[in-house]
Amino acid sequence: MTDIRLLKTTEKRYQILESMNINSLEDIVMHYPYRYDIIEETYPTLEDDKIIIEATIISPAKVFFKGRMSRMSFTVEDHHLQQYQVTIFNRHFLRQHLKMSAVITIIGKCKNDKITASDIKIKPINELVGIHPIYSIKEGMTQKSFVQYVKKALTLLKGNIDSYVPEEYIMKHQLIHKESALYNIHFPETQEDIKQALRYLKYEEFLKFQLTMQFIKRQRHQEVGIAKIFDLKQFQSFILALPFQLTKDQQTAIKEIVEDLQSPQMMYRFLQGDVGSGKTVVSSVALYANYLAGYQGALMAPTEILAAQHYATLSSFFKDTDVKIALLTGSLSVKNKESLYQQIASGEIDIIVGTHALFQKKVNYANLGFVITDEQHRFGVEQRKALKNKGNQVDFLIMSATPIPRTLAISMYGDMDVSTIKTMPTGRIPVITKYIKSSSMKPILKALKDYLQSGGQCYVICPLVEESDAIEAKSASQIATAMKSYFKDSYQVGLLHGQMKDDEKEAVMQSFQKNDLQILVSTTVVEVGVDVKNANMMVIYNAERFGMSQLHQLRGRIGRGDQQAYCYLMSSSTSKEAIERLKYLEKSHDGFEISTYDLQLRGPGEVLGNRQSGLPTFLVADVLKDFNILTIARDDAIKLIDDYDHQKGYQQFISRIQENLKENNEYVD
Ligand code: ADP
Ligand code: MG
Repeated sequence: MTDIRLLKTTEKRYQILESMNINSLEDIVMHYPYRYDIIEETYPTLEDDKIIIEATIISPAKVFFKGRMSRMSFTVEDHHLQQYQVTIFNRHFLRQHLKMSAVITIIGKCKNDKITASDIKIKPINELVGIHPIYSIKEGMTQKSFVQYVKKALTLLKGNIDSYVPEEYIMKHQLIHKESALYNIHFPETQEDIKQALRYLKYEEFLKFQLTMQFIKRQRHQEVGIAKIFDLKQFQSFILALPFQLTKDQQTAIKEIVEDLQSPQMMYRFLQGDVGSGKTVVSSVALYANYLAGYQGALMAPTEILAAQHYATLSSFFKDTDVKIALLTGSLSVKNKESLYQQIASGEIDIIVGTHALFQKKVNYANLGFVITDEQHRFGVEQRKALKNKGNQVDFLIMSATPIPRTLAISMYGDMDVSTIKTMPTGRIPVITKYIKSSSMKPILKALKDYLQSGGQCYVICPLVEESDAIEAKSASQIATAMKSYFKDSYQVGLLHGQMKDDEKEAVMQSFQKNDLQILVSTTVVEVGVDVKNANMMVIYNAERFGMSQLHQLRGRIGRGDQQAYCYLMSSSTSKEAIERLKYLEKSHDGFEISTYDLQLRGPGEVLGNRQSGLPTFLVADVLKDFNILTIARDDAIKLIDDYDHQKGYQQFISRIQENLKENNEYVD
């Protein structure tokens, strides 16, 4: 990094630059324009009534003050002798330049013969023609001086700009060089210059990211793991004894996972599939293989409720085997915990299901060989690392119910292998989903009553409140109270929210499961909740506040038996986009399709959550729009990492990646 003081500007300006996150000359040149003003020789009327026009001043400028604000007006005439009344705010200091008969250029909006100017240049248009970069800057900085800083930084850095793209690849993809790319992104002469600059910069961004990913992957593969050997016959008969036949995708996923277990390399795999596609079964089978090989396995869930459900599911799958399985959560009594710790440490317990309690300091495993985490983006990297470090060369599987297109997954989670379950088990009836334009239950009360009358149970999901669990809990309580007073004694209403204690939640969930409660009013804590086969109606308040994948996951809670299920998406939003998204869910029942659509609408950061998912943010590149470049960069990175092994430049290359890794330590696992 090159010292920013070489700019030789004022202390105040250094401070402003710092507040813009600019701390070196490199940072300056990487602060790209966010748009360009393009001024052409002809005076086009641009879209919306925007105008750029050259004209002659024909009346002296008048200034009116109101406090510190000012408004200045004058009249001009263009080359067609058309006259305009020009108004501009807070630029009274320009008045001294607005002499009669001066030819100026006005940029602004025009309505009839009135222009509200956003800028005035005291120059004829031909002196302005060109492409002008516009930067996002903080108060106290001007566009003009920032441009000067960029120019100076580029000059000072000339010949010393580090590129990640080897010459060979510049040639192969017919890219311009980095110095030209940087110069052209700031000071393009033509639109083509911008295009070529972006081609280079996007490619380099992706390449750098992929080199890092592939480097991590390779390092991991070089670490010697354990080749797990187990009795295939016993393994097969476990699968045959399952209460149903596995789908083709489940079989493929199991094959991929088992091959990882058997190989001496450590598994680092991402298993994705829609809610209800049968991931839990796959993880049970995999845990069984690991057990047969003589190792302990751990399955980590993000909530107690889900951990308890996994525990129940696994217990039923393993009931005719010798597998000893235990549930470890924070709410166990101290005494029970102590004795469980003992059994885990002695190896008496084979499979441990639990929450983050699984990786507490006190938990020591006899020989942990396999860790599975469910709903990966809820766990921090640190937590996963802690659990992995509980064993030696532990195989690692992450399950996610926010599926994304496989190609995208491979490129984004470049350091992981990906297994995908796309098809659902047969016999599932899609949930009938309806968008209801309403902020209250009124329009669907009759449907709800009829449904309850027929013996069914219903989830009522409360508005999502990003800022605060407490507000969310409050709105849930209010809705629950209203429903209680409405239904009086005819139906029982339960309440579930994130502010409740774990055992309270557990108790409510159990009552719902037992049909002691017919209506469960809940915040999204139910999102990854339990299977209640008799609950086949769901009402979601303020549905527009949820992400599409989240809504899809929520409705995955119902329709888990053989009954027709109904999901009502209530929203009083008038936003066209919001309504479109909700209507899309009426039509589509495919989690991959839904996440792809949502990704296109809102971008990967919004859909997957940037930090949690370890998803990188890119300066100029866009994972979806520039997907082709991402794929090419990935292939190139794999090849580069392979090639460099045999070449002298390898050391330097690696140290650069390692440096990069330190900067972005969130990808490191
Ligand atoms: P996920 O974990 O992906 O949400 P689960 O493993 O919980 O899905 O499966 C959802 C439901 O489908 C469970 O009740 C499970 O027993 C059932 N199931 C899973 N695989 C199959 C299959 N191949 N055929 C029939 N039912 C299945
Ligand atoms: Mg699941």
